[in-house]
Amino acid sequence: MFFVSGCNEDTQKTSAHVKEENIVTEQQTDLFEGDRGRMVRTQLEARDITDRRVLDAMRKTPRHLFVPEKLRDEAYSDYPLPIGEGQTISQPYIVALMTQLLELGGSEKVLEIGTGSGYQAAILAGLCREVYTVEIIDTLAKRAETTLKAAGYKNITVRTGNGYIGWKEYAPFDGIIVTCAPAEVPQPLIEQLAEGGHLVIPVGTFSQELKRLTKINGKIREESIIPVVFVPMLNK
Ligand code: SAH
Repeated sequence: MFFVSGCNEDTQKTSAHVKEENIVTEQQTDLFEGDRGRMVRTQLEARDITDRRVLDAMRKTPRHLFVPEKLRDEAYSDYPLPIGEGQTISQPYIVALMTQLLELGGSEKVLEIGTGSGYQAAILAGLCREVYTVEIIDTLAKRAETTLKAAGYKNITVRTGNGYIGWKEYAPFDGIIVTCAPAEVPQPLIEQLAEGGHLVIPVGTFSQELKRLTKINGKIREESIIPVVFVPMLNK
C-alpha cells in the first residue's frame, strides 16, 4: 500500500498561499495540483492504470472539493474517506480502476448508481458525453448536485432514488458503474445496458468481488476483476 501523508510540506505551503492571497475556489484547485500529480504517479501509474484519458481525468479533477472541508488535506491519500450519512468516497485507485474498465471513448451515455460525493460522476463527466447518477440518500444527492454545479459540470444529471431499478427513462446506457454492493447483479441494470456496453459492479454481501459484465449480441459475458469492499446497496 502507498500511504501519502496529508500533512506533508507541500500541503502546508499550500495553506499559507491560500491565506496570503485569499484565493477563490477555482484557483484553490490548482494548489492541490502537486498532490494530484503525486497521487496519479504513486497510486495509479505505479499500479495498473494505463488509460491515458483516465489518468488525465484523475490529474485534473479537484477531489478535495468532494470531501468534507476538514479532510481536504487527506483528499489525495490512498484510502476512502467518510462523506457523511455513514457513506464513503472510494479510494482514488478504485475510482480509476472502475472508470478504466468502462473503456470510454468520449461519446457515451453513462449511468452511475451511488452518487455519494459526486466525485466519480465528475471523473466520468470528462470522459463521456452524458452522466446520469442516482443516489438513494436525498441529502447526499442534493449536496453532490450543488458541488458539481459549483465546480462547473454541465453534463451530469443527479436524481434521488433507488438505483437498483436503474433509470429507464434514459436507457440504454453505453456504460453502467455501481459504487455500492448488491448481493446479486440487479436485472434492470442488465436490461438497461446497451449492446457492447460494460457494467462495472461490486457484487456480494460478506465478501465482494468487482465484476465487469459486457453485453455482446444480447448475451452477457462476465469477468471477475478483484476482491473489493464497498458499502452495501440499500433498498428503501
Ligand atoms: N461514487 C461515490 C461513492 C459512493 S459510496 C463517490 O464518488 O463519492 C456509495 C453510495 O451508494 C452511497 O452514497 C450510498 O448512499 C449509495 N447507495 C446505496 N444504496 C443505493 C441504492 N439502492 N441506490 C442508489 N444509491 C445507493
